[in-house]
Amino acid sequence: MSDFWQSASAYPFFLLLFSLLLWAIFGPLAAALGFALGLAWWLLHHLRHLGALLHWLALPEQRAMPEGAGLWEDVFSSLNQMMRVHRQERAEHLADLQQMEQATAALPEGVVILDAADRIEWCNPLAEQHFGLDSNVDIGQQITYLARQPEFVEYLAAAEARQPLILRGTRQDDVVLSIKLIAYGESKRLLISRDITQFERLENMRRDFVANVSHELRTPLTVVNGFVETLQDMQTRDSDMAQRALQLMGEQTHRMAHLVDDLLTLSRLENDQHPLHEEVVDVCGLLDEVGQEGRLLSHGRHRLELHLDCAVNLRGSRNELRSAFANLLSNAIRYTPDGGSIDVYWSLRDGQAVFSVRDSGIGIAPQHIARLTERFYRVDRSRSRETGGTGLGLAIVKHIALRHQAKLEIASEEGRGSTFSLLFPGKRSVLASG
Ligand code: ADP
Repeated sequence: MSDFWQSASAYPFFLLLFSLLLWAIFGPLAAALGFALGLAWWLLHHLRHLGALLHWLALPEQRAMPEGAGLWEDVFSSLNQMMRVHRQERAEHLADLQQMEQATAALPEGVVILDAADRIEWCNPLAEQHFGLDSNVDIGQQITYLARQPEFVEYLAAAEARQPLILRGTRQDDVVLSIKLIAYGESKRLLISRDITQFERLENMRRDFVANVSHELRTPLTVVNGFVETLQDMQTRDSDMAQRALQLMGEQTHRMAHLVDDLLTLSRLENDQHPLHEEVVDVCGLLDEVGQEGRLLSHGRHRLELHLDCAVNLRGSRNELRSAFANLLSNAIRYTPDGGSIDVYWSLRDGQAVFSVRDSGIGIAPQHIARLTERFYRVDRSRSRETGGTGLGLAIVKHIALRHQAKLEIASEEGRGSTFSLLFPGKRSVLASG
């Protein structure tokens, strides 16, 4: 403060001294004139700086800080300093805000902030997806106008948030959401939504799987048991009946063994603790073996041809690849009537190593294709059984594909044939030298 008064009084003090000097030399009139002129200049000096300050204050972000002299120099430099601090704080807040936005966008759950009247105050992108909201237009809207399912409205109305609500069909597709309400602050609520579609599907599959396994095992067991009892009751064991029963027992137990083998293979493939055994596989050699087995299975009933590009090898598990290729080839043989043709291809296509089996068989109607890799899913149950299928082949192929980052593609037309392809990523192909 004392600095201010010192600086502020310096000019009037010198002006007074100067005027007194004028008085002494030229008399009072000259002194009064000199004093008045000095005061006028002083006033003008302040008005000019005040004007500059007002001009800058009108658009402080765009205009440069004016230059000042005397006391005004201090005023402007203090203001400049304040502006700098303010800009820095704003940049920091903006960065914090952006970080918050990024964090909420990355949340694996949808979040909506509701006010006391259930109007949307804010929502993250995932919540927009879950409830079909658009934060540009729906902020301020009552959420029950936008998501109208009765059970959802009822859940919101219930004062106490209980168990999470499982909500189906919030949008056109089959998304299943788990919804939870959390009260916070003064009568505000957080609506948390989680997409559990995949989880539900998995749970259903797991449940079906157990049921199917018991079902699949029960039939052959009943047959074997029945015949065993018959055999025990029979007087002569070398009769034709006994022979027939024994033959059927043999077939059924063989089928059971096959089923159990496939189940074990599947559970091994599903087990995360069981890492992929990687090696460079000579695919040509492997497919020659698989082809020979295919010919044995076909018994000359089909024309079977291999079209192999032997320059391409694959990094992966030989046993697993053999199982996947053999499964696809055996399906082609089993679902192609006698006289049909089967072609096996192995080549590089757009940088990807591709294995495919094309058959001229019975084909598959489009509605079944998406479900073929589910365990025990069969288009024609009896045909699958007759040909010795377990209903697990394609589930095994899918798992092996997943473990090799490959994609299983199925193209088929009912009555005309199918093509099953495995597309391996470029990083897995190894070009044979020489
Ligand atoms: P399965 O042991 O019954 O053959 P898979 O898992 O190998 O079991 O195949 C599932 C179902 O997909 C089969 O039951 C069959 O209906 C269908 N399918 C598989 N491959 C073919 C094919 N090449 N042509 C026609 N249908 C096929």
